[in-house]
Amino acid sequence: MLKMTPKEITERSSLKINPCKTCQPVGAMYAALGVHNCMPHSHGSQGCASYHRTFLSRHFKEPAMSSTSSFTEGASVFGGGSNLKTGVKNVFDIYNPDIIAVHTTCLSETIGDDLNAFIQDIDIPEGKYVVHTNTPSYVGSHVNGFYNMMSGFITYMAESTGQSNGKTAIFPGFVNPGDIRELKRILNLMKVPFTMFPDQSGVMDAPMTGMYAMYPKGGTTIPEIMGLGDCDKVLALGELTSEEPANVLERKCKVPHSLMELPIGIDATDKFVMELSQITNEEIPYELEEERGQLVDIILDAHFYFHEKTVAIFGDPDTVLGLTRLALEMGMIPKYVLTGTPGEAFVKLANKLFDQYGVTGCTAKAAGDLFELHQWIKNEKVDLLLGTSYGKQIAKAEDIPFVRAGFPVLDRYVHSYAPIVGYKGAIRLVEMIAGALMDRQDRDASDEEFEIVM
Ligand code: SF4
Repeated sequence: MLKMTPKEITERSSLKINPCKTCQPVGAMYAALGVHNCMPHSHGSQGCASYHRTFLSRHFKEPAMSSTSSFTEGASVFGGGSNLKTGVKNVFDIYNPDIIAVHTTCLSETIGDDLNAFIQDIDIPEGKYVVHTNTPSYVGSHVNGFYNMMSGFITYMAESTGQSNGKTAIFPGFVNPGDIRELKRILNLMKVPFTMFPDQSGVMDAPMTGMYAMYPKGGTTIPEIMGLGDCDKVLALGELTSEEPANVLERKCKVPHSLMELPIGIDATDKFVMELSQITNEEIPYELEEERGQLVDIILDAHFYFHEKTVAIFGDPDTVLGLTRLALEMGMIPKYVLTGTPGEAFVKLANKLFDQYGVTGCTAKAAGDLFELHQWIKNEKVDLLLGTSYGKQIAKAEDIPFVRAGFPVLDRYVHSYAPIVGYKGAIRLVEMIAGALMDRQDRDASDEEFEIVM
């Protein structure tokens, strides 16, 4: 399919081919789905809302609920104020959420709809809430939309009463419900009282019960979001995803934060666990020590298969940086590291990792696309592709083993239930990476070399 991609790289300044990102409202919708009894609301045309819902449903294999202001020609010319007013009333009357989280779209941003003014003009039922954020999709990516929506909730709802609630707020970054469950397991093992915000576990991985629930059991509750202002501290996981909402909360409620890498791999998980142990002054439980030891043991056992293998890693910035660190810990060479989300901080952090582990000849790029990644690979091939489902066409064209991780994974099941964070998550990643490389060795082996015991 991509066999025609040329090897010669020409400078492109205003064209993306095979983007490595999606639009801001997808992230905003995902953040809102991590709030209990919340209806995400797309202020734009039905087409946008359909696309965002479909995108999320394809990754999570779960329905992604949302309503829309349903713009037609009239709203596009005269503004969508009355559409939003009617929409909010209808949603509260018919679907009865506790909160509606409105995000904008390209259309409503382009015509300049003032959501602040619109929402102030709406009659919101007693005990219910409407929050909003701006998500113009011609800048940034779904990652920006995700943290903008988090900031929207904080701006509208977080309050400081002046009394600590004794909790640590955890901003988990743009991760799967399986990752959030793993973070919560570690927090509980470390006996840290916490508020996870947002929390899509129990929503986007809700079980089949035989009964339809528009608002599944999971999600951060409204009192928990209000209580963010009384937390002692925020652990903002994912430096490029969680910093903005942590800053918003710090400015509004004076809650300090620690900005940390996503805990992917040994070192980043160690730092996360040590940070938690400083909060409670508790010993690190043997269960976590054991998992760490198992991870190290597994990497040592299997290192013949991945040591010094080159890998191209692509996807969301913090996920890619975490996967890059794990690859380096495994002795692999992250030859190409690419995200579609703009921001040169990504490149700086990736280069810092290359320096820290003493690897040379690696390239990092932000606001890149998969066409360019393919061209790099055509010029110098790698042993493995690690990233979102959009890499499968490159993997097929260049006949490279491919491991899926990050967002989105549209062509496989179960991935969003299983973690890539923590020691357990790293064990899973090592298994997937070693398995893909060993499968390739089996496939290419002659009959004489084809071994049962490897
Ligand atoms: S028009 Fe903008 S908001 Fe709507 S789907 Fe396209 S990029 Fe996303």
